[in-house]
Amino acid sequence: GLPGLKDAGLLRDKALIGGQWLGSDSGATLPVTNPATGGELARVPVMGADETGRAIDAAAAALPGWRALTAKERAQKLWRWHDLMLEAADDLALILTLEQGKSLAEAKGEITYGASFISWFAEEGRRAYGDVIPTYKAQARLFAIKQPVGVVAAITPWNFPNAMITRKLGPALAAGCTVVVKPAEATPLSALALGVLAERAGIPAGVINIVTGKASAIGGAMTASPIVRKLSFTGSTRIGKLLMEQCAGTVKRLSLELGGNAPFIVFDDADLDAAVAGAMASKYRNSGQTCVCANRFFVQDGIHDAFVEKLTAAVRDLKVGDGREAGVNQGPLINDAAVVKVDELVRDALDKGADAVTGGKPHALGGCFYEPTVLTGITPAMDIAQEEIFGPVAAVQRFTDEAEVIARANDTPFGLAAYFYSRDVGRIWRVAEGLEYGMVGINEGLISTEVAPFGGVKESGMGREGSRYGIDEYMEIKYMNLNVG
Ligand code: ADP
Repeated sequence: GLPGLKDAGLLRDKALIGGQWLGSDSGATLPVTNPATGGELARVPVMGADETGRAIDAAAAALPGWRALTAKERAQKLWRWHDLMLEAADDLALILTLEQGKSLAEAKGEITYGASFISWFAEEGRRAYGDVIPTYKAQARLFAIKQPVGVVAAITPWNFPNAMITRKLGPALAAGCTVVVKPAEATPLSALALGVLAERAGIPAGVINIVTGKASAIGGAMTASPIVRKLSFTGSTRIGKLLMEQCAGTVKRLSLELGGNAPFIVFDDADLDAAVAGAMASKYRNSGQTCVCANRFFVQDGIHDAFVEKLTAAVRDLKVGDGREAGVNQGPLINDAAVVKVDELVRDALDKGADAVTGGKPHALGGCFYEPTVLTGITPAMDIAQEEIFGPVAAVQRFTDEAEVIARANDTPFGLAAYFYSRDVGRIWRVAEGLEYGMVGINEGLISTEVAPFGGVKESGMGREGSRYGIDEYMEIKYMNLNVG
């Protein structure tokens, strides 16, 4: 068990297939470690293509029964699942912090946010209306109805071990689909705990299957299967492209939520304190490990020095440490490789002439901890301006005018989130319309909510999660033409 866990039943070290908690065929397991301490928390099965195939079969077997329920009946079970998540929020947050590293306060916030997708889509499922279409000839009556796509595969990342799963399962289940989930190798325990609560909520066996283990083998089986009609993936652009290729063979529907390179633009006319608060929230949440984290700060000449000074003061106030400790708001990065990657980006920037105003190296705590950092003098020639940093590093560039900064902000293959601060209403419209991004925070650094459409353009992906649009990703439109003549 885990010290501090009130309900020991939430910690599972088996995968969930067709209502059974199972080990892998080979018996092989993989350790789940606490990035704050390096300590082993549990071991989970290393499953591959065979076990994944059985999970897909279980989802297919559960589909007719689940699909046949009314949306209200499914909603009742989803609401029960939602309520159990909130009742178990302390335990779910502890498991999340232990395997992922973020502070308990952030983890608790993620549990509430994660649960919100279940209740939201429980209700959206009840409102998945079709159309009666004005006809084109006297004998014809035309209808469009929405039906679940069928068996769905979901592959999720480690940065939001709870919410990235509920954001897919909420709409999928509400629509009447059944699912096979592959959680990230680093954070399977949060996923398995959700499986326990789904069982307790009365969601039938096989509706949710959770397969842990080898990403390429599991992903390969999911994408090759003609039974799986849809893949929903959140993760890197590199793997997203690979999965898209693999899905071509069976022409699967796809939702892809991939990498970003978010600009955060501060104009001279911005409210300085609001811009700094937004920057802190957008950049340092989850120690910089979100796909919507500010990645490139563009600060206009007139406000540049004042912004850097205030931002640096706020960054120096951050408290780094084990996410379970009171007051800590910066946990470790997910693993050693993440520290190496962030440090490489910082070294490259410093070598090419950037200044570290604060931070700039691995933290004295050692392990996976990195110093909250502010770099100035960033130029597009530096890797840090082109790649997703995924760490607690603000990289600040200067700019002079509005058209120039829009062009520079758009000069990337990515298009997920963008942020800007200004108090000029004309400029707000011009910049918001000019940014080639799926989401724009205007005088706001935190934009994620279950009620709004989350997703990207360009190589940041396709499809939207959350909002009234999110359920369409899991439904097909069927057109019916009835001859009444
Ligand atoms: P991140 O950088 O966020 O870890 P990844 O794209 O590597 O992004 O991982 C996101 C998810 O994709 C994880 O669950 C990971 O295990 C999975 N994944 C990685 N490689 C593959 C693959 N070849 N096929 C299927 N899933 C994969």
